[in-house]
Amino acid sequence: MYINILGSAAGLPSKTRKTQSIILDMVNEINEYFLIDVGEALQHQLLKTSIKPSKINHVFITHLHGDHIYGLPGFLSSRAHQGGEGKPLTVYGPKGLKEWLDITFSVSETTLNYPVDFIEISDGDQFKVKNVDITLKKLNHNIDSFLYIFKEENQKGALNVDKLKSEGIQPGPIYSEIKESETFMYNNKVYFTKDFLGPEIKGRKIAIHGDTRPVEDINYLNLINHSDCIIHEATFLDYEYEKANDYYHSEIHKVLDIQKDLNVKKYIFTHISNRYEEDFLRQFINNLPNDILIAHDFLKVEIPRKI
Ligand SMILES: [Zn+2]
Ligand SMILES: [Zn+2]
Repeated sequence: MYINILGSAAGLPSKTRKTQSIILDMVNEINEYFLIDVGEALQHQLLKTSIKPSKINHVFITHLHGDHIYGLPGFLSSRAHQGGEGKPLTVYGPKGLKEWLDITFSVSETTLNYPVDFIEISDGDQFKVKNVDITLKKLNHNIDSFLYIFKEENQKGALNVDKLKSEGIQPGPIYSEIKESETFMYNNKVYFTKDFLGPEIKGRKIAIHGDTRPVEDINYLNLINHSDCIIHEATFLDYEYEKANDYYHSEIHKVLDIQKDLNVKKYIFTHISNRYEEDFLRQFINNLPNDILIAHDFLKVEIPRKI
């Protein structure tokens, strides 16, 4: 599993940052990429990666500000010509998204050669895509903006081969049968699979935020606690708390202070204002601990399996 930031800018693009698009790469796990937000340059950014649009079958929109959706019509229409023909796609997003796309496609006389399903999201919604549970929470922005939490299902632990062998059960197709059932028979004796399994493998949890002021309520903090990776906006980096608050955005130190007691493996701060000079950013990044990253376009981060 990887996080791939394809657009890391706040609001406006700069020469080095495009507006927000995030890929949750689960090709190794479920053979697809989740796309979260679709900044204007997304399809151009994709061309600089090995990501195939035909493997993006689920798109999650955090909110309807232009810097998060203006790439969506272009991406959807190009996907039709990039191997997406006949491959269904689902778009999750706030009320109004479908109407906007319908008008855009109608005016530009665009027809797609694959089915698109729209799911209108609201606070507290829960969905499941393959083995990934998705939970939503409304954030604090000047329009409805949402947090998506992606959590893999826990998996059964590994088979204890030594223990099976000690019962005389040798490796073979029976091992996968054993793993898929609760009980099994061997030589007329009934066994419980759980007695031959290592500890359960915990699914990874990724929390991806739309634009927001820092959120302090306890339900929210409980929801994001124990994340393997939190992706949060940091439009402001330099202690400009009031300004961040006025613009319904976040300042990084404030977010970290609110979340200081949480157990989080890694932070990626993105949606970075382009008014910060490269020198400032370089120094800022140098002073951060290893588990706190400031995104740049094409930042790719592996989220390792829990052991
Ligand atoms: Zn934004
Ligand atoms: Zn916004």
